[in-house]
Parts: sequence; C-alpha cells; structure tokens
Amino acid sequence: ARASFVAAHPEAATWSDRARRVQPGGNTRSVLHVDPFPIRVDRAEGKHLWDLDGHRYVDLLGNYTAGLLGHSPEPVLAAARAALESGWSLGAVHENEVRLAELIVERFPSLDQVRFTNSGTEANMMALAVATHHTGRRKVVVFRNGYHGGVLTFGAEPSPVTVPHDWVLCDFNDLDSVSAAFAEHGVEIAAVLVEPMQGSGGCIPGTPAFLAGLRSLCDDHGALLVFDEVMTSRFSTGGAQQLLGVQPDMTTLGKYLAGGLTFGAFGGRADVMANFDPAAGGTLAHAGTFNNNVASMAAGVAALTEVLSPELLDEVHARGERLRVRLNEAFAAAGLPMCATGVGSLMNVHGTAGPVGTAADLADQDDRLRELFYFHCLANGYYIARRGLIALSIEITDDDIDQFLDVVGSFGTDD
Ligand code: PMP
Repeated sequence: ARASFVAAHPEAATWSDRARRVQPGGNTRSVLHVDPFPIRVDRAEGKHLWDLDGHRYVDLLGNYTAGLLGHSPEPVLAAARAALESGWSLGAVHENEVRLAELIVERFPSLDQVRFTNSGTEANMMALAVATHHTGRRKVVVFRNGYHGGVLTFGAEPSPVTVPHDWVLCDFNDLDSVSAAFAEHGVEIAAVLVEPMQGSGGCIPGTPAFLAGLRSLCDDHGALLVFDEVMTSRFSTGGAQQLLGVQPDMTTLGKYLAGGLTFGAFGGRADVMANFDPAAGGTLAHAGTFNNNVASMAAGVAALTEVLSPELLDEVHARGERLRVRLNEAFAAAGLPMCATGVGSLMNVHGTAGPVGTAADLADQDDRLRELFYFHCLANGYYIARRGLIALSIEITDDDIDQFLDVVGSFGTDD
C-alpha cells in the first residue's frame, strides 16, 4: 500500500523534501505529519480536494472538523470578500464582531457573553486564565487522553510543551477519579476542563452520567465547569451541552463557527466574563491583533445566518450516525478487528474490534491496520485523517456514503 502510494505521488514527495529543509517535520501543523509523506493539496471545491499529483479525493476529513460547510460555500466566500474589500487591518472595533457575538450567544444559552480568539487553543488558555482568576484557586482538573490545543495536550501525562498550570489529571468517563480529586484538593480546584466527546483522543463520547456528574461535583465544590466544545459544538445548534442538558459555566469554541476561517471563542456566565470589563472593575486583559479580524467575523455571520440552519445540522448529524453504524457493520462482516466510535458527523476508525469506551481500550490497537486503511481510502479517492478521524461536511451526500462503504467493503481484499 505504501509503495503504490509513493509511486503515485512524485510531486508530493518532491515538495515534502523541499519542506523538510525549512520546516521541521515538513509541516507547520503536527497533525498533518504522515509517514512517508502526506498528499500535497493544490485546491479544493465543494466536497473535493485535488492534489499536486492530479488525484481527486472526496474530502471526508473536513479540515479536522473546521470544514463543516465544505469548500468555499458561496455565501461565506461572498461575505469574506466583501469584508476584505472594505479594508482588513482596521485596528478598531466593527459591526460584524457584534453580529457574530449575538449569533453565538443566541445559539448557546449558557453563554451570556463571548470573546473571540484566533484558535481553539487560545480560547482554552483564556478560559483557564479567567477561571483561575475568578475563583482565586490554582488547580485545574483535566483528563487523560484529552486535547485542548497544541499546548494543552494530555496523554498519560501533560505533554512537554503544555502550558504550565497546576494540573490534576483524572480519567475520562470515571467519575470516581474526579470525586477523589475533589476529596483531596477540594477548595483548590478552580475548574474542570472537559471535552463532551474526546475528539483528538479518538472520538470517545463522554457518558451523560459522567458529564452530569461533573456538573454536580463543580457545584458542590465551587469550581467552574468548562466545556471544550471546539469540536462538539456541531452536534446541534447549541452544541453537545444542548443534547446533554448540562449547562457549563464556561464554553470554548472554534473550528466551523467562522465558516472555516481562522476562529476561536470563549464565553460563559456574565459574572465570570465581567473580569474582562474595565467598567465593571474587571482587571483581566485579553488582547490579540487578529481577534476581531474582518474576514473571520464576516464569514462567521454568513455561515450562521445563511448556511447552517438547525435542520441542516440535524441532517449531517443523522447522516454521520448512519455512517458510523454501517462502518461497524462492514468491519464486523469482513471479520476485521476494527471499529468506529463517535457522535453524529464525527467519528474515528480504530484498529481494534472494541468496544471502545475509554482511552485504555485503545492501548493495544493495531496501528498498522489503521495505516493500511488510510492508504486504502486514499488509493480509492477518499481523504480521511491518518489517525482515522472522519468529519462529515454538509457537502457529503447519502450517495457519497454508499460509495465510500463499498470502498470500505473492499478493504483487505485488494491491498
Ligand atoms: N480543543 C479541541 C477539543 C480540539 O479538538 C482542538 C483542535 N483539534 C482544539 C481545542 C484546538 O483548536 P485549534 O486547533 O483551533 O487551536
């Protein structure tokens, strides 16, 4: 599979050699690292990507969930273009940032107020900054196998580049481990930061009991519950929290909400967000040259008002649920030790038959199978993540899914 990939991608190979000389690892985004080298994309439109070697792919990755709208949706392109034509480095407040804030606050009832960043990473850093400041406490509960951005990555331990916080690591979907942390550290815990579904960690859903239990523990101990909905906010108009019926104190957002352009946001309770309001005695600053950049703000307004209706979000969610079920049927029918987990339009293919309920269930998976599956998808014109992530966009149809499942069905017979 690898040899035929290399033979079919000479341009990508050349560009990767060139990239490695000036970019460590040959990229500027570690998640795009692929051995021996990644495809190099030339252009994108609708649901398709074209690479430099002349191959066309159905994009089933959707920029790791930021591409929910597919490529270059007309209303978003028009809005961003119009914004740029009126000037883009204003160094001033403008109208679309207010409109986008209004739209987001309307969609997420737990957000009284919101501020924008350039990434989900920054959104989480700011949420933790305000949570520790607001509570006057220092410790933050996070979960093994969690991911909150390039500098907020947790395997068994925080990664070496994780921003320094006084972390308390607990196990995802294990409420007892969190109860024990509160029993030990109680009044020192400022916040619990959690993904309602661990995304980068393999699309492992948090159970409703676990997430509701976190709400109660935070209430009992005066800690803030922070939902990282950077990935899960697409589950419904009001994100995973709407489906779960759990109201966090703070929420972080990112990915698709600016129509696929650069974006991040954090928001929540008015009394917490007031720490950024000088008129209310707030002493926290949150600056950033590009926080209210005109292209993202305009694109976000267009995405939320002209494209992403609640019905459309429900549709792509349901299509993803059907795909995940059928993937698992296909793996079982082929006798392959593989499975897919996830929620709605987000799923991850694993090199184990499962069931997968926690990160521990993935410890012994066969990564070679995942690699072969990745190259099988590429060879047949489907782009997914090397690690197995699939994130449907609204451009993907039921026919696309049927055809992809035929390709999945032929896995193992022709590689
Ligand atoms: N939180 C979660 C749950 C994410 O999935 C990601 C990105 N994959 C981030 C935060 C970081 O967002 P960004 O890449 O925009 O910094």
